[in-house]
Amino acid sequence: AIRVQNLNKTFGTRQVLHDLALDVAPGSMVALIGASGSGKSTLLRHLAGLATGDRQVGGEIQMLGQQMQKDGVLNRNVRRLRSDIGYIFQQFNLVGRLSVLKNVLLGRLGRMSRVRGALGMFNKEEVNNALQALERVGLLEYAYRRASTLSGGQQQRVAIARALCQKAEIILADEPIASLDPESARKVMETLADINKRDGKTVIVTLHQVDYAVRYCRHAVALKGGKKYFDGPIGGLSNDFLSDLYGSEIGTAL
Ligand code: ATP
Ligand code: MG
Repeated sequence: AIRVQNLNKTFGTRQVLHDLALDVAPGSMVALIGASGSGKSTLLRHLAGLATGDRQVGGEIQMLGQQMQKDGVLNRNVRRLRSDIGYIFQQFNLVGRLSVLKNVLLGRLGRMSRVRGALGMFNKEEVNNALQALERVGLLEYAYRRASTLSGGQQQRVAIARALCQKAEIILADEPIASLDPESARKVMETLADINKRDGKTVIVTLHQVDYAVRYCRHAVALKGGKKYFDGPIGGLSNDFLSDLYGSEIGTAL
């Protein structure tokens, strides 16, 4: 589903990703781990095609068999390709003043030709599709609530429903549970694992807490200083390896 070759990225004089290669098979559920500043978010943004107009990039990224970017030049059809990718942030995933249902429907806009803003145009089928996505994440009863009235964990699950409604094949989630209490975090991770298992979506999730990675992901990719440090089954992460990966940060990581 994803192939990255020789990805290099610098901010000014600072090299943030070094010759990164990555292959992610369709249907994988990958934990992307590494200390703060190791380049996790930067990598995810590149995979999502969100790092636009960037000249300080080298290498190649293919998503779903299509070229997303080569040496910093984005595919001309990046908009179309982006709609196959759902992106979930740590916070601020939703438009708070809109209903939950409308937020889910927003996922469809990327798939539609240039119409903007007008949510009234969705037909019954689109609305049913959105309601199904909400049911899928266990939030059907919240469809007509304002998004801002939901808890952080519920909002993250709405963002997952939006990606489902969008019919994204790949879900990229950057620290989706970092600001959640353990119970909400568990529900968000279970929802991600469920759409990976039952719908076959490819999921890459960056996580600070390695215990969640071990519990919910089969595969881990670890970055250290912008280089790939580990890429394999999650069971291969030993305690020694983790203290090496996080250095002095280990206390917060485990
Ligand atoms: P965290 O776990 O704290 O989220 P991360 O692994 O996601 O960290 P990135 O956000 O990818 O790390 O950052 C990698 C490096 O790139 C850091 O050294 C950071 O300071 C730098 N960096 C990120 N974004 C920018 C930017 N817009 N301008 C300059 N430097 C940046
Ligand atoms: Mg980050």
